[in-house]
Amino acid sequence: MTSSSNSKDETQNKTRRGFLQHTVLGSAFAGMTIASTSHVTAQTLADAEEPEITQSVDVLVVGGGTAGHVAAIQAGRLGAKTLIVERNSQLGGTTTTAGVAFPGLFDAWGKQVIAGIGWELVTESVELDGGTLPNFAKVPQKHWQNQVYTNQFLYAILAEQKCTEAGVEIAYYEFPQSVTKTATGWQVDCVGFGTKRRIQCKQIIDCTGGAEVVGMLGFPRFREEERQPGSYLFMLGEKHEPGRNQIQRLYVHGADSTNSRTATEANLTGRKAILERVRQSKQRLMHMQPETGFRETYRIQGETVITVNDYTSGRVFDDAISYAFYPVDLHTKSGVRPKPLKPGTVPTISFGALIPKGSRNLIVAGRSVSSDRLANSGLRVQASCMGMGQAAGVAASLAARSGSTPLEIPLKEIHSVLREHGQIVPQKA
Ligand SMILES: Cc1cc2nc3c(=O)[nH]c(=O)nc-3n(C[C@H](O)[C@H](O)[C@H](O)COP(=O)(O)OP(=O)(O)OC[C@H]3O[C@@H](n4cnc5c(N)ncnc54)[C@H](O)[C@@H]3O)c2cc1C
Repeated sequence: MTSSSNSKDETQNKTRRGFLQHTVLGSAFAGMTIASTSHVTAQTLADAEEPEITQSVDVLVVGGGTAGHVAAIQAGRLGAKTLIVERNSQLGGTTTTAGVAFPGLFDAWGKQVIAGIGWELVTESVELDGGTLPNFAKVPQKHWQNQVYTNQFLYAILAEQKCTEAGVEIAYYEFPQSVTKTATGWQVDCVGFGTKRRIQCKQIIDCTGGAEVVGMLGFPRFREEERQPGSYLFMLGEKHEPGRNQIQRLYVHGADSTNSRTATEANLTGRKAILERVRQSKQRLMHMQPETGFRETYRIQGETVITVNDYTSGRVFDDAISYAFYPVDLHTKSGVRPKPLKPGTVPTISFGALIPKGSRNLIVAGRSVSSDRLANSGLRVQASCMGMGQAAGVAASLAARSGSTPLEIPLKEIHSVLREHGQIVPQKA
């Protein structure tokens, strides 16, 4: 053999070795890919290429967050044809997308005061996750000790499943662009990417957290000059175990979910600060929610406005539809000092606080409930939002069925349906 043929052979050998190595690595990767990939097939939509769709429903829920998915499930279970339009990619809102997966408070002073669909979802997600539920018979030293650690991922999927089982249609990535009154209710034009949806509906439940539909219709809303800070939830250094512990939080002062521009600003500010912390702490970023949690934007002016005196005195409204329980909990630039309620006090939520003043065929549930700022700082928590969502779902469905408006439905009927569906209804002493 000549030296040149030697070097040629060596080159060929190297090439072969490289090829073999590549093939071995390649097949290892291919094997890994095959081993870790399972397959499911999404249904082919007959109208997938249709950019504009039109449909008619009884109840339209706008916003599938903490209150919204409960409202939709309730409406669906009552046989109302229900559509939920959610601008994000999953249900649960602040509970899931913002990661505040420790809903409270379902209990007060040693007994459960809020149950129903929200509680059903919370307990099922905790059970499926192998977690533990608090013992409500025991009054905790600190109010937050009876919040329920919930797996945000499981919760979101279970919420979807329960919507589907109740016959609720879900439209993600969409939001209303215009809302106009019709002879029988509303026409709502929504937009998503590649989709325009025209909806005729009898009733709207606004669960956007900021009463966005109420604002579009020109009914009065309030928004403070300075709002409570939002929080961006993340975890540095140690693994976040969903359903077991709280995530680290960063206050985002000025956070405002009024529109896409203000929400973008809050997210950019929060994420920039988290990046700074990673650089300074030299710890790994182990978990980060996709968006800021917003505590406060618009509240509606309802037929009733719940005041802090109503709240702290435990006033049982004549038209109460749900209990609420939490300290007065106003976050400011200097932090938060929750003011616990006096022993035995359990506030209630007036049905009138869900109805935008002077409106018909429209109801609100969630943190934009009609209330003064201090009352709202306690009313805005998740169990209360879920309670409002369920009541709104009942009222809107009954109104759609009878061709009336939620305020015209006899309260007795709303109460009795709520009880049939597992909710606890406040009683006058
Ligand atoms: C950081 C933080 C900590 C908190 N801590 C606790 C706690 O420890 N315990 C507790 O119980 N509560 C806590 N809360 C309060 C509670 O989580 C919220 O007040 C509550 O979840 C609000 O529920 P909601 O249904 O009103 O709004 P959200 O859950 O925010 O739902 C609103 C939904 O509407 C969607 N949406 C908005 N606009 C549109 C639109 N135009 N079209 C379509 N969809 C739209 C949103 O994407 C979202 O899914 C906390 C809140 C924050 C932010």
